[in-house]
Amino acid sequence: SLTGKTAVITGSNSGIGLGVARELAKAGINVVLNSFTDRPEDHAIAAQIADQTGVNARYIQADMSNGDDCRRLIADAGACDILINNAGIQHVAPIEDFPGAKWDAIIAINLTSAFHTTAAAITGMRANGWGRIINIASAHGLTASPYKSAYVAAKHGIVGLTKTIGLETAQEPITCNAICPGYVLTPLVEAQIPDTMKEYDMSREDVIKNVMLARQPSKAFATTEQLGGTALYLCSDAAEQVTGTTISVDGGWTAL
Ligand code: NAD
Repeated sequence: SLTGKTAVITGSNSGIGLGVARELAKAGINVVLNSFTDRPEDHAIAAQIADQTGVNARYIQADMSNGDDCRRLIADAGACDILINNAGIQHVAPIEDFPGAKWDAIIAINLTSAFHTTAAAITGMRANGWGRIINIASAHGLTASPYKSAYVAAKHGIVGLTKTIGLETAQEPITCNAICPGYVLTPLVEAQIPDTMKEYDMSREDVIKNVMLARQPSKAFATTEQLGGTALYLCSDAAEQVTGTTISVDGGWTAL
């Protein structure tokens, strides 16, 4: 049973991370929420999850663009049976205009943070004889789109990291997998709409239908609840032999 296990979810005061944390908490898993801010409302989200589900829920500030912070998050969590590397940012620009600082931040937050948290968490998983590492990659971990060079590079990178950790833990009761969502209507996606409207000279509705969901054959956004359900499956005994691989939750995007 997953009851009483502890999950650390990076970048979880919003969007997919928060949605996944809520689903895990509903299944009796203690959750450690995280982002780079340290506001009363961040801690209030954890308190609300604890109230609603009865699990132990805490918020720990740590900046996933900083390797020491990534490792401190795992240390301060005290336990990390389930690690969900979810923190991520996006920037949309043609390669020749892509700011170097944005490239560095995206690689650090979307890719390198998972190296640090995984390295810090794996010893404890080995000692406990059980562990689940789940990387929130993207359909952009398997395919590309123009103007997202750093994001696509980082997401392909995390799929590669997933395979490597799957092999390094293959003979242990630890698995490492990546979930590859298509579009989910979160603040990250909401923030891309204005830039994409400019890039393609389109209305909001046309961007959603003809750009974002153009490659999502279902023509529907995936939901954070569905991604939480996918994470719970990967934590279940049924997924014991599922490792080093990807699960797409993309409405058919990667079948195109
Ligand atoms: P979001 O902006 O709602 O959430 C991102 C989270 O990361 C937030 O909690 C934010 O505070 C946190 N974060 C950002 N910078 C951080 C930092 N330096 N340190 C710690 N935390 C930081 O976006 P989302 O859509 O929920 O994205 C979550 C993950 O899912 C990302 O890795 C994203 O690439 C991936 N993803 C999203 C979609 C989508 O359509 N929304 C699709 C595929 C993959």
